[in-house]
Amino acid sequence: MENYDVIIIGSGAGGGTLAYRLAASGKKILILERGGYIPREKENWSSKAVNTEARYQAKETWRDRNGKPLHPHTNYCVGGNTKFYGAALFRLRERDFRELRHHGGVSPAWPISYQDLAPYYDEAEALYHVHGNRGEDPSDPPGAAYPHPAVSHEPRLQHLSEDFERQGLRPFHTPLGIMVNERNRRASACIRCNTCDGYPCMVNAKSDAQVCAVDRAIESPNVTLLTGVKVERLETSASGREITRVVAIREGRTETYSADIVAVSCGAINSAALLLRSANGRHPDGLANGSGAVGRHYMGHTNSVLMAVSKCPNPTVFQKTLSVNDFYFGEPGFDYPMGHISFVGKLDGETLKGGAPPLTPGFTLDLMASHSLDFWLTSEDLPDPDNRVTLDRDGNIVLSYRANNEEGHKRLIARLKNLLNRQRSCPVHGHECHQGLFARNLYLAERIPLAGVAHQNGTIRFGADPRASALDVNCRAHEVDNLYVVDASFFPSSAAVNPALTIMANALRVGSHLMERMN
Ligand SMILES: Cc1cc2nc3c(=O)[nH]c(=O)nc-3n(C[C@H](O)[C@H](O)[C@H](O)COP(=O)(O)OP(=O)(O)OC[C@H]3O[C@@H](n4cnc5c(N)ncnc54)[C@H](O)[C@@H]3O)c2cc1C
Ligand code: SF4
Repeated sequence: MENYDVIIIGSGAGGGTLAYRLAASGKKILILERGGYIPREKENWSSKAVNTEARYQAKETWRDRNGKPLHPHTNYCVGGNTKFYGAALFRLRERDFRELRHHGGVSPAWPISYQDLAPYYDEAEALYHVHGNRGEDPSDPPGAAYPHPAVSHEPRLQHLSEDFERQGLRPFHTPLGIMVNERNRRASACIRCNTCDGYPCMVNAKSDAQVCAVDRAIESPNVTLLTGVKVERLETSASGREITRVVAIREGRTETYSADIVAVSCGAINSAALLLRSANGRHPDGLANGSGAVGRHYMGHTNSVLMAVSKCPNPTVFQKTLSVNDFYFGEPGFDYPMGHISFVGKLDGETLKGGAPPLTPGFTLDLMASHSLDFWLTSEDLPDPDNRVTLDRDGNIVLSYRANNEEGHKRLIARLKNLLNRQRSCPVHGHECHQGLFARNLYLAERIPLAGVAHQNGTIRFGADPRASALDVNCRAHEVDNLYVVDASFFPSSAAVNPALTIMANALRVGSHLMERMN
């Protein structure tokens, strides 16, 4: 069996970025990825293929805490879930790293500060081509200027932004990882389409982990990527202090691999499941789980989509450009965090079909979609030890979750509706709309269900205390010297902005630590 310096399991935001960092070390790196490359094909941009037929979604059944089947909205492929993400690439706020009192409890402090991660955020923003306007977002921490200018609003969103400003808010351009060149459209890889958030990019212009990290890493002769390799368990030496074998299934056959260092990056749910499946005599409750933390504190954000359907059309094609963080830490009269407001990709009739009553005619859904502003609201859920990943008797994933800390989210939805009711004009009807653009209009707010595990995090938390965390400050297992976990699992709290940039920045941080360790 050939021995590698590092094996990385999973090639998403965490694993892919780590591979990119370690490629320059010259060390022998092996990436094991259970999925394959997403084919470039017309279906990439078909809402029927992607949303209705779930063409690229994992074909797996998990169970919830009541034993009910759960079909997770997750993707196994090179680049992981970043192939499908909306590429909104936010830094956590400085206060997110500290203990923060919420209406529903306490969000714990991280063992590192914003300043510790800041240089890696700078690097991650450069690697993932983030476009934005530093300083526009009132809660954004200090940092280097964004490497690329903000992505412009289309007229409907520009108008909404100005209306929010008139109401005293500080709306801002969402930091986005797309390779768009608005100064020279002919040289732009990105064409600003309506099938970005939730879809793979057919022209490879989205800054996902495959395009920006993995494909670049494997240009180095010392980096090997094997696809279609599902890691089943990790085996240790008799002392239990180090991993000696990585056991995987490839095309129906069992294969084993070995390395001096193993970095697990399967996503927060699958990484926890892998460690639990790797229980042995020295680690009876799961690998590196003396603290009992592995699998616990699952968080995924409290997320809602709010469709504000108005009499005014919304012809926007690329809708992800606008965000509002004025209520991130609360509002007068409610001194607790509420969360973040932004947009999903433009919804269409086909996508709405999935959630509509069976007799709703298609043209109604199309009409609704052509008149809706489709907001995405995110609030922080708190790390409850009983919200957790476990395995059933056959080793399948069970995801137990009870929502918590919901008051801020409810207020955020109410606040947004209130703001929209007070809009003074619209670009189509002008000031004839001053009676209240949305006042007699329709709001459809839908909470993202448990199967929507897009923002999964927190199941293998890092910390200074081995009794309360599974990983140390460098994301190395307290109990296994050569085991690292480098994906969304390490979050001790979920904050309320999208997680990917923090996962990427942390992977660069851990990668730097590994380079030092290996020298
Ligand atoms: C539709 C959608 C939209 C999103 N939009 C945004 C956004 O706008 N902004 C943002 O910040 N975040 C967004 N996210 C979330 C973001 O994509 C994730 O936070 C991020 O990809 C998680 O990184 P990760 O490394 O933890 O896991 P992943 O990126 O999921 O990578 C895990 C990898 O491990 C592989 N794997 C799993 N198990 C095994 C195994 N046993 N053996 C081998 N390989 C394995 C998987 O195939 C996958 O490639 C979105 C997600 C989705 C689904
Ligand atoms: S908006 Fe740009 S980056 Fe996104 S899918 Fe379309 S072309 Fe690709």
